[in-house]
Amino acid sequence: MPEQAFDKYTILKNYFGFTEFRTGQEEVINALLEQRDVLAVMPTGAGKSLCYQTPALLLEGLTVVISPLISLMKDQVSGLSSAGIPAAYLNSSLMPDEYHETIANVRNGIYKILYIAPERLKRDDVHLLGGSLGISLVVVDEAHCISQWGHDFRPSYLLVNEFIKRLNIRPTIAAFTATATDKVKNDILATLKLDNPFILTTGFNRENLYFEVQKPKDKFSALISYLRAHTDKSGIVYCATRKTVDELHDALSVKGFAVARYHAGLEDTERRENQDHFIYDRKPLMIATNAFGMGIDKSNVSFVIHYNMPKNIESYYQEVGRAGRDGSPADCILLYSPRDIRINEFLINKSQGDEVPKDEAIIAHNLSLLKTMTYYATSDDCLRSRLLAYFGEQAPSYCGNCSNCNTFFENTDITLPAQKIISCVFRIEQRGRRFGKLMVIDILRGSKNQKLLHNHLNTLSTYGIMSDTSAQRIRTIIDHLVNEGYLLFSGDEYPVLSPSPRSGELIFEKKSLSMMLAKETEPPPRLVSSQQLENLQEFGHGQMDEALFAKLRELRSRLAKDAHVPSYIIFSDASLREMSRKKPRTLDQFQGISGVGLVKMGKYGETFTKLIREHAKPES
Ligand code: ADP
Ligand code: MG
Repeated sequence: MPEQAFDKYTILKNYFGFTEFRTGQEEVINALLEQRDVLAVMPTGAGKSLCYQTPALLLEGLTVVISPLISLMKDQVSGLSSAGIPAAYLNSSLMPDEYHETIANVRNGIYKILYIAPERLKRDDVHLLGGSLGISLVVVDEAHCISQWGHDFRPSYLLVNEFIKRLNIRPTIAAFTATATDKVKNDILATLKLDNPFILTTGFNRENLYFEVQKPKDKFSALISYLRAHTDKSGIVYCATRKTVDELHDALSVKGFAVARYHAGLEDTERRENQDHFIYDRKPLMIATNAFGMGIDKSNVSFVIHYNMPKNIESYYQEVGRAGRDGSPADCILLYSPRDIRINEFLINKSQGDEVPKDEAIIAHNLSLLKTMTYYATSDDCLRSRLLAYFGEQAPSYCGNCSNCNTFFENTDITLPAQKIISCVFRIEQRGRRFGKLMVIDILRGSKNQKLLHNHLNTLSTYGIMSDTSAQRIRTIIDHLVNEGYLLFSGDEYPVLSPSPRSGELIFEKKSLSMMLAKETEPPPRLVSSQQLENLQEFGHGQMDEALFAKLRELRSRLAKDAHVPSYIIFSDASLREMSRKKPRTLDQFQGISGVGLVKMGKYGETFTKLIREHAKPES
């Protein structure tokens, strides 16, 4: 570990190779450095790990991380080790002598970060260890596992409290999850007894994800045609049942795809092997049930396809969140058929009663979540805005990067409707009144609602001048006008519409205006994939040198093999892409690449810059 006292920015660059914190990271880090408890709700792929790994290096003593997936701890720890951070894990995959060696090292203060599987918290030696150590921070990752209302309840998570109680000094406690419902949040707060916690919920938008819903007659053909067009990519196909996983796995193998499979019905060893095949890109395609993926940080997953509709939006967003983690464009495609609803109803009814007593309230709750998921699958609205609305976020009605936007939206001249709306607001203002959006829409559409008639608003000259336009459409245009500053929407208790200094531009200056609006008649689908998009909107500055990219990948895969780690532990695809654009020839330039920290710079700087220099030489 490089010596010297560091601050969080130096750690970010020197260990992780990044120059900027992502949204929310810095606030969480600051709170933890002040030893304040934290509950952070951030979407999958947002970078939660860095939020506790950075303070772990700055705080005295040890940071303990409770993390649910044994098989992935190894990965986390090799990632940290490769960045020069001393870390280890305790779980049932260790042989007895490895286990004892790790415990001894922990006692000797070798590590800064220790991952522990929740099941291990049953063991006395872990409690004894806890009691004798200076633990400054306990992190509960995937904290929704503590709640029955979450989609992944794990009874062993309830052992966390007991573990903390037995520590000599109460550590700071930080809970991280991507699950945002209030029920789950409150459960986490109460169960972990967080003390005056700093609570952070970041925006849920992941810009690089492209969303698509397909309703194919034949899902298998739809899948095959996508896979054929993306053979050089790595991705996950989620199915609702083990049986479908097995069938799909076999059918794709027969067709010559390098596929791995994963579900809870497989032996531990096979599961682990298959997961490794996927992570090490020996089999870049994973067919799995939702048992697969929590904590997966394979940064080059470039698509997540759902062969069946999942049970709820939270699971869906968590599962698709595994795509595009390094920020590269990635596809999230749902293959929907109405039959998926029945499969899920069956699964929801069955899921209760095994490990936990059957609870009708939970079943009813889950069925209502399924309904919301079905709305997503069958809606014509912008898919991103639907997802974000579920997480309580206002989003524009058009994102331009989902199949609905690409299919159902078009650039529309809204000069005339905008003039009508603004005139209506002017007329109301002239009568010394102001109203909210609903009333303005009612006036424009010529509604006969009581309040409107009572106020004689039907005598306005703008009454009924948009009777042929849907309320939804008028509302979308009003929102746009407000966003663009052509109307004001304000007020303490009941916000109301009023003219703005810019309103006149549209009325008197005859300025024209357009926006992306849902098409009024349905055109044939024209789907743009993220790959096409990638070609369209050049990613970053400078052209990417494909030949160099291929060489860099080859070099990375050689180095990964020698080091027995997955490729992305060396560098992410995003880092290699940046290299093939910026072509750093000196170590100095190399250090400017995102993902290059001090240790990686020392280990790989020479080799990579040499390859880049040689690539640039004209062939002789
Ligand atoms: P989460 O646990 O929230 O799902 P991770 O902690 O696994 O997400 O991080 C997802 C990816 O984002 C990782 O590949 C990580 O290296 C990357 N990442 C995290 N923070 C940053 C940052 N500040 N700048 C660039 N990449 C980051
Ligand atoms: Mg995580």
